[in-house]
Amino acid sequence: MARKSEISRRDLLKLGAGTGAMAFVGRDLLFPVAAAQEGEAATALPQVPRRILGKTGQSVPILLQGGSMSLDTRFDPKLAEAVRFGVNYFDAGANYAGGNCESAIGNFIETSDVSRDQVWVTSKSHIHDPLGLEQTLDEGLIRLKSGYFDMYFLHGLKDPLFLDAEMKNLVERLQKEGKIRHFGFSCHDGNVVELLNKAADTAWIDAVMFRYNFDQYGNKELNDAMDRCFKAGVGLIAMKTQRSEVSFQKEWQKFAVGKWTKQQAVLKAVWADERIAAAVSHMDTFDKLKQNIAAALDDVELGQAEWEELERYGAATRSAACDGCDHICGPAVDEPVQIGATLRYLMYHDVYGEQEKARTLFRKLPIEAQRLCGIDYTAAAARCPRGVDIARHMQRAAEVFQA
Ligand code: SF4
Repeated sequence: MARKSEISRRDLLKLGAGTGAMAFVGRDLLFPVAAAQEGEAATALPQVPRRILGKTGQSVPILLQGGSMSLDTRFDPKLAEAVRFGVNYFDAGANYAGGNCESAIGNFIETSDVSRDQVWVTSKSHIHDPLGLEQTLDEGLIRLKSGYFDMYFLHGLKDPLFLDAEMKNLVERLQKEGKIRHFGFSCHDGNVVELLNKAADTAWIDAVMFRYNFDQYGNKELNDAMDRCFKAGVGLIAMKTQRSEVSFQKEWQKFAVGKWTKQQAVLKAVWADERIAAAVSHMDTFDKLKQNIAAALDDVELGQAEWEELERYGAATRSAACDGCDHICGPAVDEPVQIGATLRYLMYHDVYGEQEKARTLFRKLPIEAQRLCGIDYTAAAARCPRGVDIARHMQRAAEVFQA
């Protein structure tokens, strides 16, 4: 299905893509989307730069289309537009929009002129035992209308014990059967460092998708673990690059980071780290897609003034971002409330604008964890390394989830 581009060269220039980056990067033999789009698209449109994803040896765009809860399941033009600029990596999850994300990608491939082997499709299982994972994978393949995923992840891994011999055997069998090409896990809770170190020591983990943003550059433990992964050939994919700010979207407007928007600047901050192969972004609108592509195409790096601005922004907003490290604050509360998960769902609600998804996730918490009011969070807040105003945010969560 040949289409006119929704994003013009003029759009990209307006949004910050420098002229140097507008040159076509060239045919990529490892991952031939450019070759697949011979003619107008390949020669006229700039392509997002690519990096190698660790030991997979695969060249991937530095910008990935991901977390897409709001794709049109018939034919989503945002996916077509992303591919035209070389963003041919789609990251799904079995539980994203109840499986509709996988269906949308499958239907896009079926109805567009982009074939299955021209896109890299990953998905994830939120069920972590081998039996449940395989069943989730098989259901996902039906929705994708494909025989394989390029990469499959354990989704939101917390417990490294799931990476045991039984899981290794399953992964090897699934690879032999051709259902998955590569395997890894995603993680965004408090024990990211422990899990990265585990990945570095586990030969059959090809990539990790983890929480990483401009605010973590000085974290020595995290950096050491990333170094170990990078040396071991574990592909590193950054997510939550905007930092997981719970509830203060309006604050963004106060911060101008040079010629870039805050959204663009934080992506560039992550790409400045060469250990990171790619950053995944939930590009649910053409505007976000345009802004992110423009940032990726712009080969001008953040200067000292922009880094300082980001640092100032980070310091001013630190107490509004939660890292999900419940093991720090949770024990200080007598009740079975789940602070990290609740604040993440509040972020989905207030910052991402995904109200229905946020409510659904909150309702899936154990019933006793849904009681948020009448609890003293003072001791928990005192333990929080970020100084998050837990009581205020939990009050807000009660308002939006229990109204
Ligand atoms: S409130 Fe603080 S300690 Fe608790 S999970 Fe969030 S960042 Fe971690």
